[in-house]
Amino acid sequence: MIFLDHNAGAPPHPVVRERLRGLLEGRDWANPSSPHAAGRAAKEIVEEAREQVALSVGSSPTQVTFTSGATESNAAALRHWTLRSAGARTIVCTPVEHPSVADALHRLEREGWILRRAPVDRSGGIPPDWIGSALDGDVAFAVCMSANNETGALHPWREWAGECGGRGIPLHVDATQSWGREAIAVRGIRGSVAWSGHKVGALSGAGVLWLSETRGFSGLAEGGPQERGRRAGTESVLAVASLGEVARLVLAGSPWREWSDWREILWRAVADLPGVSRTVDAEHSLPNTLHLGLPTRAETAVMRMDLEGVAVSAGSACASGSMRPSPVLLAMGWSESEAARGIRVSVGHAVDEQGVRRAAEILPRVLTK
Ligand code: PMP
Repeated sequence: MIFLDHNAGAPPHPVVRERLRGLLEGRDWANPSSPHAAGRAAKEIVEEAREQVALSVGSSPTQVTFTSGATESNAAALRHWTLRSAGARTIVCTPVEHPSVADALHRLEREGWILRRAPVDRSGGIPPDWIGSALDGDVAFAVCMSANNETGALHPWREWAGECGGRGIPLHVDATQSWGREAIAVRGIRGSVAWSGHKVGALSGAGVLWLSETRGFSGLAEGGPQERGRRAGTESVLAVASLGEVARLVLAGSPWREWSDWREILWRAVADLPGVSRTVDAEHSLPNTLHLGLPTRAETAVMRMDLEGVAVSAGSACASGSMRPSPVLLAMGWSESEAARGIRVSVGHAVDEQGVRRAAEILPRVLTK
């Protein structure tokens, strides 16, 4: 299998596997809240991971809360900001968020909140200066994902952080696709950032919620005082440790350049095929992601690629299988039939250059069938 679907989630990184093997075989850790030596050993694993994760985004460890994944982090953050809104009823957002954010925003809209959505062009681009005029009036908070999971398009969240911070409006950033793929620095953000690590080699079921100000925050479930009272429930020590290992990789310098080189190898292999277009150019997308418009149905292309031993994706993993056209592509102004012809290729640690070159031979054959 040549794995080109990292944006959906990838196998654990070899470094993570090695660490987890060691932890699984060791018997000297238990519930991190237990005061005995085994509990303290577990706590140390969790706290060491917290330090690494915090360093990877330039934050203090006390601002980092571990969760069950980016879905939970997003949900907890949005709930927090709605509870803190003090009468303001407008949310400034993008129309291309991941379903874990988009569905919550739709629900809030049904409940009477006003959503002010950024314009998005056919390449997933959001004008960086739009935010300047979008924050007037009664804005409770803003939401801008760092990069889109389907198209790889980079969003102007840094500009949003500047404008929102200047006006004291909280900003929530879903940075799930960016962590480990582009530099993420949380300094200067007033609000929250959510991410998980299973796209870049950590276990799924582990996530992070970063908060600039933790006072007054409570998570989704009631219960124990774990995570300084911000997230009840026994920490998944293994999952958290896997985030710590990936954070170390991020700090050591993730191979972004190599990934973008591989992506260009794949693009050059298909660029001249009739009816194939690139959705987002190299400069404006995540280094690992290539999104294509095809002359044929994406679902068919994905199946054919699978038969050839290459894993790619039609839309996001959450939307694929549903046969619904991608809401992200529709929001970008694609027609339903165009949206059914979008395919995502995403490279990363679970493939190597040899695999990419083999895929570059297979892709044009399959896409023109
Ligand atoms: N946000 C984005 C942008 C994502 O790509 C994903 C994963 N598909 C999520 C949130 C949800 O992450 P998790 O699977 O860790 O809950």
